[in-house]
Amino acid sequence: MTQTPGIVITGASGRMGRMLIELLARSDQAHLVGAVERAGHDWIGRDVGEAMGGAPTGVTVTDDPLEAIAKCQAVIDFTAPAATLEFAALAAQARAVHVIGTTGMTDDQIAMLEPAARHAVIVRAGNMSLGVNLLVLLTRRVAAALDEDYDIEVIEAHHNQKVDAPSGTALMLGEAAADGRGVALADVRDSGRDGMTGARTRGHIGFSAIRGGDIVGEHDVMFAAAGERIVLRHVASDRAVFGRGAIKAALWGQGRRPGEYDMLDVLGLKD
Ligand code: NAP
Repeated sequence: MTQTPGIVITGASGRMGRMLIELLARSDQAHLVGAVERAGHDWIGRDVGEAMGGAPTGVTVTDDPLEAIAKCQAVIDFTAPAATLEFAALAAQARAVHVIGTTGMTDDQIAMLEPAARHAVIVRAGNMSLGVNLLVLLTRRVAAALDEDYDIEVIEAHHNQKVDAPSGTALMLGEAAADGRGVALADVRDSGRDGMTGARTRGHIGFSAIRGGDIVGEHDVMFAAAGERIVLRHVASDRAVFGRGAIKAALWGQGRRPGEYDMLDVLGLKD
């Protein structure tokens, strides 16, 4: 029997970490070889399956990412920006594929991934679902077809524990809209309106964020003109769509040339 790629999950106790561990337990294409949590976490030293309240997996949760990553073929990482930078360096040393789902990274932090991408494959996407990546393509197309008479607004909703706004997905959609219009998002981005903001600036791309309950992730891209409105919408009702996309990315990256890729590469949707 051929051995499937061994995967390390960082942030094992997080919402996405748990989901990925469950998906890997059922996968016949990849298997779990390591689970990482931060030092002091009460899962450290426990079997990750048992810590999740299920059957043992034979994988003990560790706070030593170096040891875990050294023996894997891919790291799937949905944690926090500072932790992701640390894991990128370790994955590069191990020549392991690093799948980054972490959002909220600054431009400087994203630039800091570059040295790691010279040695290993990085797949980074603010959203790993097929549906959202198709929405990115549609958004770029619609934005290219319409002029500035159509105001573009990106509206997103997430659960009440999310720490960054706008969401990584909203920013991906905003980038796609800006790209379609041939402008840089940084020059037209309008987020966090509050108070006496004045009238909307023509050509700007607006962002609004809703936070509440257990909403997995909802995104609308609205093109609003006088007399009509087009709304492109994606609703995620199960975070398994992100987990399945991340595992697909980890498999896709095996044996590929080092560099930075995204889900459009993985899904074969690049123009
Ligand atoms: P979460 O439930 O807060 O999980 C994050 C996990 O990472 C926590 O267990 C956290 O531990 C752990 N962590 C943080 N720093 C760490 C470190 N230095 N070492 C080891 N573990 C560390 O959040 P989530 O909902 O799973 O989301 C995680 C990230 O993925 C967010 O940035 C979110 O926006 C993003 N996300 C992306 C997609 C996508 O498709 N790209 C989809 C869903 C979510 P502590 O609790 O101890 O801090």
